[in-house]
Amino acid sequence: MKKLENLKLSNTFAKLGADFLQEKSPDPVSHPYLIDSNPTAIKLIGLELSEIKKNEFIEYFSGNRLLPNSKPLAMAYSGHQFGSYNPRLGDGRGLLLGEVQDQNNNTLDIHLKGCGPTRFSRGFDGRATLRASIREYLGGEAVHGLGIPTTRSLAVIGTGELVHREIPEPGAILVRLSDSHVRFGSFQLLHFTNKPEKVTTLLNYIIERHYPSIQNDANKYQLLLRHVVKRTAKLIALWQANGFIHGVMNTDNMTITGTTFDYGPFGFMDHFNPNFTPNHSDPNGRYAYGKQPEIGYWNLSKFSETLGHLVDPQLIAEELANYQPIYNDYYRKLMGQKLGLEILDSEFKELVNKLFQLLYNNSIDYSIFFRHLSDLPSNFPKRLKQKFKDPQALDSWISMFVRLIEREDPNLNTRKGEMNLINPKFILRNYLLQDATDKALKESDFSEVERLRILLEDPYKDRPELFSQYGIEPEYYAAETPPSSIEIQLSCSA
Ligand code: AMP
Ligand code: MG
Repeated sequence: MKKLENLKLSNTFAKLGADFLQEKSPDPVSHPYLIDSNPTAIKLIGLELSEIKKNEFIEYFSGNRLLPNSKPLAMAYSGHQFGSYNPRLGDGRGLLLGEVQDQNNNTLDIHLKGCGPTRFSRGFDGRATLRASIREYLGGEAVHGLGIPTTRSLAVIGTGELVHREIPEPGAILVRLSDSHVRFGSFQLLHFTNKPEKVTTLLNYIIERHYPSIQNDANKYQLLLRHVVKRTAKLIALWQANGFIHGVMNTDNMTITGTTFDYGPFGFMDHFNPNFTPNHSDPNGRYAYGKQPEIGYWNLSKFSETLGHLVDPQLIAEELANYQPIYNDYYRKLMGQKLGLEILDSEFKELVNKLFQLLYNNSIDYSIFFRHLSDLPSNFPKRLKQKFKDPQALDSWISMFVRLIEREDPNLNTRKGEMNLINPKFILRNYLLQDATDKALKESDFSEVERLRILLEDPYKDRPELFSQYGIEPEYYAAETPPSSIEIQLSCSA
């Protein structure tokens, strides 16, 4: 385990040159202070935990001091936002500090978000609110806890300065880790500014870093597309199975590695409702829960357009055509696991469709229902049963479910254990997140941020003693969203 000074950064992206980035140091902040740091991520990058306590930790990760070997830079990109091409995006408030080898020997980017304007800022201030930074900090860790590929959060640091939004708000900086910050939009910028040879340079960079096994293949660009299609399909299947709604699936928020990226107005579904989006700025529901798989395809097709000079259009079409079957196959398997079933035939499909109809018609909480599935048939909570307006419809679904369970291994005890490992007890409900940010903002009390981080590290396990020192029962966090906070919507970039 290393000290901060020995955290060896490399700068492979910086070597790509001016078409891809702007070199720039973070702008210093006046009174940086630690809001929360994340021991699991700190260990992941090989840092000694005691380093958190040093003032240098705050200095380095607020951008007030540069880590040895760091060559900070803002990445250039464009992208489709809500279906329209925006030629001018890029890191307007974030900087890549460099890359580290993690404990699993993977390369991770270290990125600061909210550390001052860059040439891509378009007149915005280059800063981030404490509210939005805590949201992203916890969002990444909650999604990681569910086993979904995502950026991670190393720390969130207050700047001691105000940021002007609708009202002045405290500012903060998020220290984000990601296997990549290269987005579909990174390729689109080079493609639409007519620099096909630079598209190739970036593709080669990605192949070398993430897909080295295809490096010497004559069809490497087609194979890269195959990998990206597969990873994206799997990512979105995981989102759907977990009731996660990204909220802003613009092509600049889709990484080339299929990692959940940029947590703005994201959310987990309360009542099952395919039309729901947590994004207030998306009145047409382009990025609603039920639309995510289709948008994943649309975004991939935009990425694939940038390969036109390297891959035959027919082959591109063939690779894209694999998206839907890969998605369907993976999603069906995940739903099978959630239901504790292995035979995924037409009856299974009917069971799932009927369940969605029931959950939708009766406004049933998606995660809570799945968590209690393992209590069926005998221990299903009465309170949950009473929420169904037509008890007979539920009973008839339950008998179909029990019949399908019984045609497989009917060992209810093993099934319960396995199902509880995929149906989380705790999810990052927006009202919990709002409570944590309210306490941080109004009382400078960051303990709720810490508790949510710890709880969501393992959202599957009952840990009744977890918060006994605070006199809090973890059960509190497993409850349904209160009616006044159902389907909270938020607006973009704060
Ligand atoms: P996002 O909605 O976070 O994906 O951001 C979309 C684009 O707006 C990106 O180019 C961001 O860098 C930029 N952006 C968002 N907020 C700010 C800000 N406060 N200052 C500068 N650029 C910003
Ligand atoms: Mg973004």
